[in-house]
This record gives sequence, structure tokens and C-alpha cells, in this order.
Amino acid sequence: MRDVLLLRFGEVHLKGLNRPYFLRKLVDNVRRAVEPLGGRVWMSDSRIYVSDCPDMEACAQRVRRVFGILGVCPAVEMEKDLEAICKQCARMAEGLTGTFKVIARRSDKSFPLDSMELQKIIGGRVLEANPHLTVDVHRPDHKLNVEIRDHCYIRLHEVEAVGGLPMGTGGKAMLLLSGGIDSPVAGFQVMKRGVRVQAVHFFSFPYTSERAREKVCELARILGEYAGGMLVHIVPFTEIQLEIHEKCPDGLGTVLMRRFMMRIAERIARAQGCGALITGESLGQVASQTMEAIAATDAVAGMPVFRPLIGLDKLEITDIAARIGTYETSILPYEDCCTVFTPRHPVTKPRLADLVKAEARLDVEGLVEAALDGVTQYKSWEDS
Ligand code: ATP
Ligand code: MG
Repeated sequence: MRDVLLLRFGEVHLKGLNRPYFLRKLVDNVRRAVEPLGGRVWMSDSRIYVSDCPDMEACAQRVRRVFGILGVCPAVEMEKDLEAICKQCARMAEGLTGTFKVIARRSDKSFPLDSMELQKIIGGRVLEANPHLTVDVHRPDHKLNVEIRDHCYIRLHEVEAVGGLPMGTGGKAMLLLSGGIDSPVAGFQVMKRGVRVQAVHFFSFPYTSERAREKVCELARILGEYAGGMLVHIVPFTEIQLEIHEKCPDGLGTVLMRRFMMRIAERIARAQGCGALITGESLGQVASQTMEAIAATDAVAGMPVFRPLIGLDKLEITDIAARIGTYETSILPYEDCCTVFTPRHPVTKPRLADLVKAEARLDVEGLVEAALDGVTQYKSWEDS
């Protein structure tokens, strides 16, 4: 008898002919997540199992963060011996209160009892040993699952996991990562769909402090825990902001700045083999996130811009941030570069012609090139 984790996976079931590919990726990703803890990963009967880890609890916590996994069930694997199975089930039910139900499944048809018979016998033995419990077959408080396969697997609880699609099945994208609440959530939502994400951060030293940069690196580290690390490209942005501030109408400042961010992010994205950009914009949240401002920003982007938060309220975004673990870092009070140069009266419906006219006063290409020349990188993982 030994402890194992039985992993339930979701959407990969739906992938038709690509199913073997998705599954292989998923198993590889689980393996990468648990290997440092000594866990062994194997597949049998279209299920993924983890075993032989000295700290199964820590293993379960890691597997919960593997995209593609829907649920993690701590289970007991044992011989297909009815007496031993009944005893084990009775033991597992000891701490329970309320109602329960035994759900038996017999995949190994050579086992002499069928599912109904198993449920009856095991249910009876559990009750006998735990007379404080009652059976409710419709809405039980607890479900005791007994599966007869190559071995017998018994499980009682399921811990919810992150869901989504296996990392690496959806291509690569570049996240515009600020130090705020929204962009880490946007990155997470796209990562969840199997996309490998790198980040670009625009840094306005000395208008924003070294600690603001560290905060962004910490956010990348947290996001990287779901993906085996994250690479951040840090772009010096002060020169561009000063030029815009000095030479362009104040009300257009934010959208002009956003257009520079897009141009630079796209260049880095292409060099890294990314097929899309990601931002944390949400429609109407601030002046630069009106439909007109977004259109003006998109006009300079030569690749798709994913905005997974476009229809979410701030509260909904905050909930996700708390759940994925970025919220506490995002609310640390270091300013990001946008707040320093925010115009007092931003234009909410910028016209493309006005933006182009304003940009004619700047050496756009020269500024972009200079910023790209100054890019440094931060890796959220340690090379082994
Ligand atoms: P966030 O909470 O993500 O900072 P926000 O509500 O503060 O978003 P804005 O400051 O208008 O919104 O930024 C909109 C989006 O532009 C951000 O979600 C992010 O994708 C990108 N962005 C803004 N500032 C930066 C920056 N300094 N570096 C990289 N991307 C940025
Ligand atoms: Mg921001």
C-alpha cells in the first residue's frame, strides 16, 4: 500500500487528434514540477499519477499550479483484496461527520464483484465501523471513491487545481508588465491557455525607484512559478517620456507613451519568437483605456494584442490577483512610470491625426532604437 496523487485533467480530453500531444506536454510539465521533490510521474488508463515523493503534500501543492490539471486527489493505492479494501475505507472514513456515499468503479472486469456489489459491501463495512455516519446517495457530504484497475485506488478528497491547457501548447507571447494589479493577472490568464509568456517592463529611472523595478521582478518570479520561470526585458524609458513631456501636447501624453511601449514591445517580441502582445487594459478603467485610446494604441502594433481583462471589473481582477498570489506584491506603494508623467487632463478620445502630428516632433525611430540598445534582462529562475 502507498500514497499517490491522482490527477484529473480537463480540456485536454477535448483535443481530438492532438490529444496524445497535449497529454505528453502535460505529463512532462507535471514531471518537471515534482522532480525536484523526488516524485515519480506515470500514466495509466488515461490518468496521471504521482508517487514515491517523501512529501506528498508539497508535491500536491506544486501540481496544483500545473496548467492543464483540474484537480488533485490524494489517494491510496493497494492490492485488489476486498477485505483489505473494506478496512482501509473504514479507516479513511473515521474522521468524517455527516453523510457519505461509496462510489465504486470496476475497470478491471476480471475482478469478481461488480460496481454495485462493491458499493454495497464497502458501504456496509464503513457504516459498521463508523456508526455516527449515515448514507446519502443523492447529496452526500463525502464521496469515497473506490476504483478497481491495475491496483485498487481509494480517494476521498479533491483539491482544486489551476485548470487551463498545458504550458507550451499555445505558442509564445510578450506581456507588458507594469507593477500594478492588472498586468500580472492578464499574463496569468494567457499563460493559463498554454502560452509561454515573457515580460517587458518600461523603467523610468530615476523617476521610479530601483524598488519599483524589484517589485516587477518579484511579480515575474511569482508568475514564473506557474511556468518554470519568466524572463523579463527591462527597457529604459525615461528619455522617451521626457521627450513626449517636453514636445507634445500634455493631454496626449499617456497614449503617445503607450504607442512607444507597443512599438518597443513588438520589436522585442519578434526577436524572441512571440506571436502576440498582452496588456492588462480593461475597457474604460482610465482615460487611456477608452475604445478610441485602445484603437490609437493598436494602430502601431503589428501583431495581435491580447487584452484578457477587457471586460472585467477591478474587483474581479483583484480577486484573481489574490488567488494567484500577485496581489500583495502589486499593492506595494512604489510608483510605476505611468503615474509620474500622467497628464492632468488626458484626452479620452484621441484622434489618430493628432497623435501622428505630435509624433512628427519626435525622432520616433531613434528613440525606439536607443531604448532597445539599453535593454537588460532579468531571469526569475536560477540556472542549474
Ligand atoms: P496595471 O495594473 O497593469 O499597471 P493600470 O490599470 O495601472 O494597469 P495603465 O497604467 O494604464 O493601467 O497600463 C495599462 C497597461 O499598459 C498595463 O496593464 C500594462 O500591460 C501596460 N503598462 C503600463 N505601464 C507599463 C510599464 N511601466 N511597463 C510595462 N507595461 C506597462
Ligand atoms: Mg499601471
